[in-house]
Amino acid sequence: MKTPENTPPGIGTRLVRAGRKGAGRFVNPPVVHASTVLFDSVAEMHSGEAPYVYARRGTPTLDALSGALAELDGADGAVLCPSGLSAMTAAILPFVSAGDGILLPDSVYGPARSIADTVLRPFGVTTTYYDPAVGGGIADLIDERTRLVYVESPGSYTMEMQDLPAIAAAAHAAGVVVVADNTWATPLFCRPLDLGADIALLAATKYIGGHADLMMGAVTGRGEAFAKVRRHHGAMGLCAAPDDVYLALRGVRTLEVRLARHMASALEVAAWLKERPEVRRVLHPGLPADPGHALWQRDMIGSTGLFSIVLDGSSEAAGARFVDALKLFGIGYSWGGYESLAVPGEFTRTATNWSGGPLIRLHIGLEDPSDLIADLDQAFRLAAG
Ligand SMILES: *Cc1c(COP(=O)(O)O)cnc(C)c1O
Repeated sequence: MKTPENTPPGIGTRLVRAGRKGAGRFVNPPVVHASTVLFDSVAEMHSGEAPYVYARRGTPTLDALSGALAELDGADGAVLCPSGLSAMTAAILPFVSAGDGILLPDSVYGPARSIADTVLRPFGVTTTYYDPAVGGGIADLIDERTRLVYVESPGSYTMEMQDLPAIAAAAHAAGVVVVADNTWATPLFCRPLDLGADIALLAATKYIGGHADLMMGAVTGRGEAFAKVRRHHGAMGLCAAPDDVYLALRGVRTLEVRLARHMASALEVAAWLKERPEVRRVLHPGLPADPGHALWQRDMIGSTGLFSIVLDGSSEAAGARFVDALKLFGIGYSWGGYESLAVPGEFTRTATNWSGGPLIRLHIGLEDPSDLIADLDQAFRLAAG
């Protein structure tokens, strides 16, 4: 796409224009509810030239979103999945078979451990967890059975940044595929394929949808690695439903303005929390004091609304009292919607020790940050009393 002056369009322009080719005179593409696609003739049916053959394999609605997500990632294509978790499975399975091994960061989104234990292990694929801070040291963990290194930066709950370029360089030197979960940063703030990942994925459930009203995942990539993902995705019968796809596409249009607000409000709230005596640590890579800040500055151009705090000296029960005392923050899983959420940290460590203290994860929504700060302030006082 070119703007009138032939300069590359900015991100706002791309978000507005992406995936709209099939809409004709209408601003938005039609929501095609379909299973069967009709052909003009048997000859056309067998020609392999028909633009659509069966709704599981694509409709104008699905193509609009997958086209937009592929463009944002600089990818050859995108496949849509019914949830972020299913996108993770769809990104891993194409690269492994019996006897192989994969490497998962110890800070990985928790249900990845269920993929390892429930899906991969019975097929003879072993999982080794690694320190998310490993960087190029991943080379020492790669053996002749390793087929895939998974990266998620920053990590779930504990927010460790990972050195994706260093990990990718070491993995590629050993012929190993790199898959990156980019749910937190979104393609607006980080482009994992440009940083060395072969495959990128995200839970569109979070910021792409942006309104806590849908579940979806997407996998993107380039070249032969993505061709493999596409084949597997088709063979597994994965697809996403048209109304949800339409909502996700609507989310794409406002992604930049929403994320600008999430970013600014989260940084403001995080800076306020950092000064509180009740808070031992704020885990947010966008803060200069965060151990991941240098990597964040190098690899990302923005931060989003999700970060964690570690409470000072307080027990799990005191953490629960604090969360219960919040009025504007909902208590619940997921994040990326317009509303603020708080949840006590629930995570497992098997390769590293994490002994930070009681952790609370906050999602900063689109409310006025001064109201959120006032809410946190009254909850600290209530929890202490
Ligand atoms: C939420 C999340 C997922 C899973 O997405 P669902 O749509 O809830 O299945 C995957 N990765 C990360 C980092 C997430 O936060």
